[in-house]
Amino acid sequence: MHSTPTAFKAQAKAALADPVIRQNFRGAMDFLRGKRQGVFPEQAEFKALQACAETIKQQALDDLPQLLELLEQNCTRNGIQVHWAESAQEANEIIDGLIDQHDGTQVVKGKSMATEEIELNDYLGARGKDCIETDMGEYIVQLAGEHPSHIIMPAIHKNAEEIGQLFHEKVAGVDYTTDVDTLINIGRTQLRERFMAADIGITGVNFAVAETGTLCLVENEGNGRMVSTVPSVHIAVSGIEKVIASLQDTPPLLSLLTRSATGQIITTYFNMISGPRGYGEAERDGPKEVHLVLIDNGRTQAYADEQFRKTLSCIRCGACMNHCPVYTRIGGHAYGTVYPGPIGQIISPHLLGLEQTNDLPTASSLCGACEEVCPVNIPIPNLLQRLRRQSNLGREASTGIRGAGSARSGLEALVWKSWRWACCRPWAYGVVTRVVALARPLLGLVKTPWNKGRATPRPAPKTLNQLLKHRATGSNRTGGAHGNH
Ligand code: SF4
Repeated sequence: MHSTPTAFKAQAKAALADPVIRQNFRGAMDFLRGKRQGVFPEQAEFKALQACAETIKQQALDDLPQLLELLEQNCTRNGIQVHWAESAQEANEIIDGLIDQHDGTQVVKGKSMATEEIELNDYLGARGKDCIETDMGEYIVQLAGEHPSHIIMPAIHKNAEEIGQLFHEKVAGVDYTTDVDTLINIGRTQLRERFMAADIGITGVNFAVAETGTLCLVENEGNGRMVSTVPSVHIAVSGIEKVIASLQDTPPLLSLLTRSATGQIITTYFNMISGPRGYGEAERDGPKEVHLVLIDNGRTQAYADEQFRKTLSCIRCGACMNHCPVYTRIGGHAYGTVYPGPIGQIISPHLLGLEQTNDLPTASSLCGACEEVCPVNIPIPNLLQRLRRQSNLGREASTGIRGAGSARSGLEALVWKSWRWACCRPWAYGVVTRVVALARPLLGLVKTPWNKGRATPRPAPKTLNQLLKHRATGSNRTGGAHGNH
């Protein structure tokens, strides 16, 4: 069963009650946090790099329209064909069309959150096209018929026993094992055959450099390099916010990305794709065609709002998730969105609208850990609070976010309206507060999710009005006594 953001509360409850999920995430998150801490021993160094990266991304967002035009010009000059997609549907149609155009039958894909976002595998599958994931984590979740639970470690919710069982059941001739090296070798053997037979390769993009028309791809397994070089056609899929101005912006972003994501000083592979193979070059020198599909899919809505624009700075490192007390306990599937955790809580409302996602911003203690570790300094807690407000606005308020006001019920609106009416009339206010004061003892009988885990506040023996009256009477008496002396 696929999870959905509308069923977030039930899914979170189920995840909390599952000891295997709790244990898998606890172990993995502790490990990742420790690794990150090890590569950022000096807080001052992190802060300096963070400020630098924030400026680079902010500048890129300020100049986004011009940089996207420049990227298109320079990619085209390099021989990369650029396509624009306003929605997920349009992006899928473009990619599907490119596969048909080349009579593609064997499609391999590198790790890409953008293609998860547009649900490319489902789209191609529905058209009879088999697209195999080649990142080991993605391969595991695809084999299991699941979705990634983390943006960097897609199969982090599974332990070695579960993966061993999965391979035993789904891969022909494989015995059950929990030995990690053996499991990796099984995956490697399966995938290598698919790489060699593939005619279309699909990848994501980490940074798209406007000044040179270069597509940068960060990875550890070498599958990204295989996917972007072995098949004769390479299709790179990217959100429009991945554009940066120049090559010299890359090193600080790369350094922060790898350290924040996996605690590595540098990843094993950093691919810089500058176009298809040149005339007369051998087949092994790269694909004969490279395409770049640039996706909007709700990003311009976030871009239009100065505060929400910051969400587009995200470099998808996953550090906010690894440090979030909610994510680390419920895992990624409970959110029911492609991007889980704090970053998902602020991006998903723009991609899907607040009608479907208005519970997500409430799943935060606002402790600020996500903002503290974010390499580009996105003010996640502030944005969560803003989204909470947007969800509860009166429906008449126009804010530009799809579904604003969707969390506000008719009953709640009526209560606030009545409250306002009473507050504007002292006599009515007096009546209401007196009735409420009389009803206070009943508070303990009402069971709500709030007081389920909290002690019900005991009403004070006297109301504020009574206390004030009492004090006034007392001081009058005292005043009288002083006067007698
Ligand atoms: S919001 Fe920040 S910490 Fe979270 S994934 Fe994006 S860049 Fe990383």
